Amino acid sequence: MKLTVLGCYGPYPPAGGACSGYLVEFEEWKLLLDCGNGVLSRLQHFIEPHQLDAVVLTHLHSDHISDCFILRYAIKAAFKQGRRTRPLPLFAPSRPAEDYERLTDPGIFQVQPIRDAETLTFGPLQLSFLRTVHSVSCYAVKITVAGSPQTVVYSGDTEYFPDLADFARGASLLLCEANFLQRDLLAEQINHMSARQAGILGKQAGVKRLVLTHLLPYREGEAYLAEASKEFEAVELAQEGEVYPINPASFNHAKGDWMILTVETNPIKASLLEGRLKAEGITVMLRNEEAAGQIYGFTVGPLADIQVLVPKDHMQQAREILQEIIENSPEETD
Ligand SMILES: [Zn+2]
Repeated sequence: MKLTVLGCYGPYPPAGGACSGYLVEFEEWKLLLDCGNGVLSRLQHFIEPHQLDAVVLTHLHSDHISDCFILRYAIKAAFKQGRRTRPLPLFAPSRPAEDYERLTDPGIFQVQPIRDAETLTFGPLQLSFLRTVHSVSCYAVKITVAGSPQTVVYSGDTEYFPDLADFARGASLLLCEANFLQRDLLAEQINHMSARQAGILGKQAGVKRLVLTHLLPYREGEAYLAEASKEFEAVELAQEGEVYPINPASFNHAKGDWMILTVETNPIKASLLEGRLKAEGITVMLRNEEAAGQIYGFTVGPLADIQVLVPKDHMQQAREILQEIIENSPEETD
């Protein structure tokens, strides 16, 4: 899975910037989280708008939805050009009702409400939601990949609340709003978190990486970082246009998150096994013994020992699949 920051400002962007918009991709699946002003333009540096599988709007404030009203023209054009045949699913809270109604565009958008405790599935991607504390109905989003430890959590807009730490527990990457600094909270500003609170949240949730977003356009990024990093070390500022790989290879092997299923000497066999396991929803890594610690997608030379690794939690299932493959493979003949 990978996350691309298309826009990271709120409630308005600086010159050349954009408001909230994040592209999440896994294999051929492409989801857009929020679609604020400037996002559609940025999106096209990475994919064509008609390639989107769905748009998920955390809430209906303009800095999170305004490019939806332009995206509809791009989708309409894609229909005319024969590049898209289905309306684009668009998920959003159903309140405020008049804003939700405005998104309606039959035949172009298939607008559906986000419901509490509902899970959305797009191929191997699963999305779950947690209602946040904001001035309008808003949801945090958690994206997981079936059979994989990769998890992205996006806070949406929110004040700090403890349940968010449970929701984000152990995330590979927490994309967290930090519109405020502590001094804004002291001035009794509400509806958003401070960078310090985002740091506290990252620490409480034990996330691997914390990315601060929804930044004010007129504030120095360093001020946010200084506050958050006092609480949590693995913190950084969202960078527009940057791609954040959510790579299982970055998981801690030393901790025993991964186990060796088998060792193959034939790269084609290793690749076939990888494909079969992935088809069953199991994440796989191929590792070449000689290149210590190096993780390969596929390209290993002949006669190298290729370790096939799977997450510890899926070892039993993977063993059964491997056994099945061995039993069903034709006898080798001379
Ligand atoms: Zn916002």
